[in-house]
Amino acid sequence: MTLRITVLGSGTSHGIPMIGCRCAVCTSDDPRNRRTRTSAAVRLHEQTLLIDTAPELRLQAVEHGIDRIDAVAFTHAHADHVMGFDDLRRFAELAEKPIPVYASPSTLASLYRLFEYALTDARLTGFGIPIVEWHALSEPVELDGHRVTPVSLQHGESPTTGLRIDAPDGASLAWCPDCCGIPAASVDLLRGLDVLFLDGLRHKPHPTHFTVAEAVEAIRNLAPREAWLIHMTHDLDHAETEASLPQSDDVPGGIHLACDGLVVDVAR
Ligand SMILES: [Zn+2]
Ligand SMILES: [Zn+2]
Ligand SMILES: [Zn+2]
Repeated sequence: MTLRITVLGSGTSHGIPMIGCRCAVCTSDDPRNRRTRTSAAVRLHEQTLLIDTAPELRLQAVEHGIDRIDAVAFTHAHADHVMGFDDLRRFAELAEKPIPVYASPSTLASLYRLFEYALTDARLTGFGIPIVEWHALSEPVELDGHRVTPVSLQHGESPTTGLRIDAPDGASLAWCPDCCGIPAASVDLLRGLDVLFLDGLRHKPHPTHFTVAEAVEAIRNLAPREAWLIHMTHDLDHAETEASLPQSDDVPGGIHLACDGLVVDVAR
């Protein structure tokens, strides 16, 4: 079975089209310019790992046929990555067991504050809460025969947890949204990848996100086989940006712009 990732959302915190914006991208007919908040589903062996619970989780799952989630890993607790948390209720119902949730200790602390109601006894609420099992993610964990490694990334004042996933056959991918720098210790954890997904917000500089040019430079340095930019604002028209992305011999599969619904099979 091949490691398969479905990009459920590829947009920044506002989503595209943005409320009240009539720019060329927000009014575009190109479906690739419609971006829900950044999130992904990774099919491991038989299980599916969800990365983040975007505000549109229910719509994303219905649209892209995600009818089973076996575990969730969070990158950080910003609203655009967690506000679909309540939709885990349905996945726990379907699984008939609690959904394991993995996050760094500081992200867990934020999730406890944001979703305090999910810490109550499910029986007292008539099971109207997402029934989850909380796990701190500080070291690599084994999920469905795959190794999931947390990778610390800079994102303003608090770090983000990028996720590297290694399949038993050696296929590997990493999902790194929301970052503006990769600490030296994390660079080594992101080498030798088949596929890298990396924050590529827009062209204009931003204090907590990579610009397209910064992302491309980081990608060239890490030299994955193939790379995709994620978490884009309405500044980036899909076709125009995809056509103008600089390429590199170090990234033979190319550097591309992701879009909602993109499916990448990662094979060795
Ligand atoms: Zn716009
Ligand atoms: Zn974000
Ligand atoms: Zn963020």
